[in-house]
Amino acid sequence: MDLVDGVLRGDPRAVARAISMVEDGAEGLEELSAGVFPHTGRASTIGLTGSPGVGKSTLAGELVRAARERERTVAVLAIDPTSPFTGGALLGDRVRMQAHATDPGVFIRSMATRGHLGGMALAAPEAVRILDASGREIVIVETVGVGQAEVDVAAATDTTLVVVSPGWGDQVQVAKAGILEIADVFVVNKSDREGAEAAARDLGQMIRMGPELAWTPPVVQTAAATGKGTSELWEAIAAHEAHLEESGTRDDARRTRLLREVEGLASERLRGRIRQLLSEDEVLSGELVSRRTDPYEAAAILTKRILLSPGP
Ligand code: GDP
Repeated sequence: MDLVDGVLRGDPRAVARAISMVEDGAEGLEELSAGVFPHTGRASTIGLTGSPGVGKSTLAGELVRAARERERTVAVLAIDPTSPFTGGALLGDRVRMQAHATDPGVFIRSMATRGHLGGMALAAPEAVRILDASGREIVIVETVGVGQAEVDVAAATDTTLVVVSPGWGDQVQVAKAGILEIADVFVVNKSDREGAEAAARDLGQMIRMGPELAWTPPVVQTAAATGKGTSELWEAIAAHEAHLEESGTRDDARRTRLLREVEGLASERLRGRIRQLLSEDEVLSGELVSRRTDPYEAAAILTKRILLSPGP
């Protein structure tokens, strides 16, 4: 497949086209995935999640700058799982990103779900693998908020950053959304504002009150708008990566994520087949409606039918 060759060469146009295929759930996706997969697993992946406006995009720009200063190549995948549209609002006013627009060592792309069955949580890992296979050393995945799909996407990386800004609202939201568990590093951004110390202290306390963990997530204060704290954040990410390496947990975590992804993809296929069978079977729906067959029995009938004739 020419497209696979282009991706593996790191050709930005091929990479962009491949990601569009993932986004659209386009035909050829399986061939693309098969060609790319053996060349993945090399990139460090970093996820960024947190409420809108806390400064994730600005921070992503700072991480790009930090990576380039260290002569590492980097890709940013900005994901909006709720929107069928890309570009525009998501990447429009990213002044810091624009600073990297002409740097061939930086690839920036936003992505939404359009045709991909199973939504963004299933589409994002493939997009990350395309960036990985294209030779990017670091792949940053940024989501717009803290909905479940966004949290799932951000957590599907080696190192997940949970970003808050000063003020109680965010921490409450962090606790509520259950994203304390997924954080490898906490970032209190906008630390140029009042309340950053208090926010960091509160988070530290939440972490201490939580279960004992093999890795205790550090709390890093940043002011992404001015660049303050970027080096500390970089060091915290590096420390987490070193921990994954030394403890051997990176491979375990990657295996778990791959298995979960396969489960999701397989479930999606089965769901499609079940829907199709159901919509075609007027006898069964008639039996259900007239209360001659109950839902449990109908489900058993369908399951048996699929097992006996698995279809495509
Ligand atoms: P996102 O929605 O989480 O991606 O947040 P953005 O990166 O778009 O930032 C939201 C707003 O906060 C923008 O106006 C930024 O300029 C501003 N901002 C980002 N970082 C900081 C910071 O460290 N301090 C202050 N005061 N403002 C910031």
